[in-house]
Amino acid sequence: MTGIQVGGHVSSSGGLWKAIERAQAIEAEALQVFVAAPQTWRPTNHTPEAIAQFRAAHAASGLGEVWVHNIYLANLAAELPEQLEKSVGSVVNAMRIAEAIGARGVVLHTGSHRGLGMDAVRDQVIGAVKLILEQAPGEAVLALETMAGQGGAIGRAFEDLGGIIRAVGSPRVQVCLDTCHTFAAGYSIHTPEGLAEAMADFDREIGLDRLAVVHANDSKMPLGSLRDRHENIGDGHLGRAAFEAMCAHPAFQDRAFLLEVPGIPTEAFPKGDGPDLENIRRLKTIRDAAVPAAKPAKARR
Ligand SMILES: [Zn+2]
Ligand SMILES: [Zn+2]
Repeated sequence: MTGIQVGGHVSSSGGLWKAIERAQAIEAEALQVFVAAPQTWRPTNHTPEAIAQFRAAHAASGLGEVWVHNIYLANLAAELPEQLEKSVGSVVNAMRIAEAIGARGVVLHTGSHRGLGMDAVRDQVIGAVKLILEQAPGEAVLALETMAGQGGAIGRAFEDLGGIIRAVGSPRVQVCLDTCHTFAAGYSIHTPEGLAEAMADFDREIGLDRLAVVHANDSKMPLGSLRDRHENIGDGHLGRAAFEAMCAHPAFQDRAFLLEVPGIPTEAFPKGDGPDLENIRRLKTIRDAAVPAAKPAKARR
């Protein structure tokens, strides 16, 4: 048993609890939702009744982990103070809702250094993360996502995130590894050797115990392209073998693998309606065939 939960990002439109139904319809074992429209700053008002309804539906569903994805506008390295304030506010809001609905935490695109480099923004980002944890006390985890690196995105290199995490010093700050992003960023995780090397680097820079959740996406773009274009499982430059290697790698055991794939084109949805049942089944088939390698002794750091 790999203990990997295969899940996906699902819409929560029409009420948070509807996400549970949608996750069940694609046979997901875990789910991710937005709790506010991702392209706007305006928070959605979730009533206590709606939150209770979500919790009840989740408990009755037998589904595993719930994750909240923060809105896309946030940038903890924003240049203008008011942009930074809005960014922090959006994450605090998402963290509070995550706590309320019983989610494990919030996945965050940390932001962009706008080409200035990490040294120019690191202190600001560290301060912002500390502020978020202060303003959203509780158990919810803040998972900084690995990024493809386009536009100066923070998280292209594992060391970007490791530096922030070490400085903040809280066990609540963890990492979401997006397989498409990490591959596009230049980590050759499509081969077993490349994957082993990348995860050894992850362990050195961040620590494998900080790997909280995985965004499982194939990539339309080649290795090192820095371009963030998700593809259906097995149909991209990562390919099926990459997911076979991940499901067998000790670092990925007992994690939720959340799909954010376009979906298989159909007559009704020529561009796909992903993540869909077909992609979930593809990854489950891979997961179920995987034989996890033995856990190595804890690396010294
Ligand atoms: Zn992602
Ligand atoms: Zn992406």
